[in-house]
Amino acid sequence: MAPKYDLIVVGGGTSGLEAAKTAAQNGLKVALIERKTDPAKIQRSCAQMFLMNMDSFYNEHMYFSREQKRWVFPVNNFSVNYAGDYREFYALHFTAPNGKARIEIGDYEKNASGDGVPAVVFDKGALLGGLYEEGIQAGVDFYMGRNVVDVLNTSEGVRVKTSEGDSFAGTFCIAADGVNSRIARISGLNRDRVFINTGRANSYYITGVNFDRSEMIALGLCYGPKELGVIMFSLLPSVYREEEYWLYIQGMERLEYLTQQSNYRHWFNNVEITHQRCAVVSNWSPAKEPFKDNILFVGDSCWFAEAENTGALLSGHKAANAVCKALHTAQVNREGVKDYIDWWQKNWAETHDYKEFVCYPVFNRLFNEDEHNYLHQIIDTKLPWTMNPFLMYRGLSEGLKPHLETIRKERPIIAKKIEMFTPERAVSLMAIASRMGYPCY
Ligand SMILES: Cc1cc2nc3c(=O)[nH]c(=O)nc-3n(C[C@H](O)[C@H](O)[C@H](O)COP(=O)(O)OP(=O)(O)OC[C@H]3O[C@@H](n4cnc5c(N)ncnc54)[C@H](O)[C@@H]3O)c2cc1C
Repeated sequence: MAPKYDLIVVGGGTSGLEAAKTAAQNGLKVALIERKTDPAKIQRSCAQMFLMNMDSFYNEHMYFSREQKRWVFPVNNFSVNYAGDYREFYALHFTAPNGKARIEIGDYEKNASGDGVPAVVFDKGALLGGLYEEGIQAGVDFYMGRNVVDVLNTSEGVRVKTSEGDSFAGTFCIAADGVNSRIARISGLNRDRVFINTGRANSYYITGVNFDRSEMIALGLCYGPKELGVIMFSLLPSVYREEEYWLYIQGMERLEYLTQQSNYRHWFNNVEITHQRCAVVSNWSPAKEPFKDNILFVGDSCWFAEAENTGALLSGHKAANAVCKALHTAQVNREGVKDYIDWWQKNWAETHDYKEFVCYPVFNRLFNEDEHNYLHQIIDTKLPWTMNPFLMYRGLSEGLKPHLETIRKERPIIAKKIEMFTPERAVSLMAIASRMGYPCY
């Protein structure tokens, strides 16, 4: 029979591994239960960007210390070892369907000349593998290849059951089971959340890419035949090979159209897919609070779409410390972990509005090809660097503001669409579009 644990972490992704390692390093008896057999083997789509030198994200200003090989979280006062490879990139360009016009976010040339790195792509397998090793050294009991099916509230805390027939007793549980969290569903946490949509995320690592200013992320649009609709894509350098890029696009038909027939086809020459990844993403509005019956929720499990690795590390770390404090002060209840709940509410739910996250992908869908070509050429200055998904749309609207009068005169329909667009409308439009089968994650 498995011993009783102070803490049972469900999920060995970024947030769960950070939580388990931190709690064990602080002396707790910790179990981590994970469905996969090898945490360092990544199958799920992730652009693997670490974003830095921008407005604060969860009120943190994370950066990478090359010298120390650590991701540093100075506001929350901790760091995470990272010994893997990384590749710098210098800007974000929104590119128009004509393949020419661009809205530039960040100053590519300035950043490329060494004047402050805005972001890197990193090797998520190396990050998770490193956290796993540190967890082993700290004494975490890892139960891999097990699928958690139930978490029950007991007089002593929690009981966690797997489909393989295991049953674990713990004082606290940390639910780190990702964006489609089963624990959020069965514990009733989702009852107060608004379900928006379920989307799929396909991504391909490809070679045969050739375009200028290639060390950046291009977020582009093109218009294929009617059955393919608007094709949205992201193209980003890969951390694995110099000549490789990460292409995020909804399926092979769209990939073939983009690379062979669209106005972007000159970016591609003899494209070969080296490997593919995918993900299913269920989008719910954020939970009211990240706690229910001695279960603390971290990372994507209680948030909208993606906490990102920044948020996953932050929340995993903070939740583990809260459990340590609760046990040390013999308050094994909500009061004991209130620091975590308060921190999450202040820096997540009250700081970032999930509706603003939805704005950018939906805003893109409001315009036709010609309107997009017009809008992408009207902003003629470089906009301030940010890839904070909650602020991206706001940054774009700020960029459009000085041109609104011109747009009103030249293209009144476009102006009307911009003026009528609100975050609330974005959420309902996303839900409707998703129900009609349009990919809009
Ligand atoms: C297309 C796409 C692009 C992204 N790009 C970026 C990016 O560029 N930068 C960035 O920082 N973030 C990015 N993200 C988001 C990032 O991947 C997540 O926010 C982050 O991985 C969340 O970590 P997590 O630990 O909460 O969840 P996950 O990483 O999803 O980990 C959850 C773990 O729980 C396990 N699990 C689930 N259910 C069970 C169960 N019942 N029993 C046992 N184990 C279970 C899973 O196997 C998994 O290992 C992207 C996401 C997507 C979909």
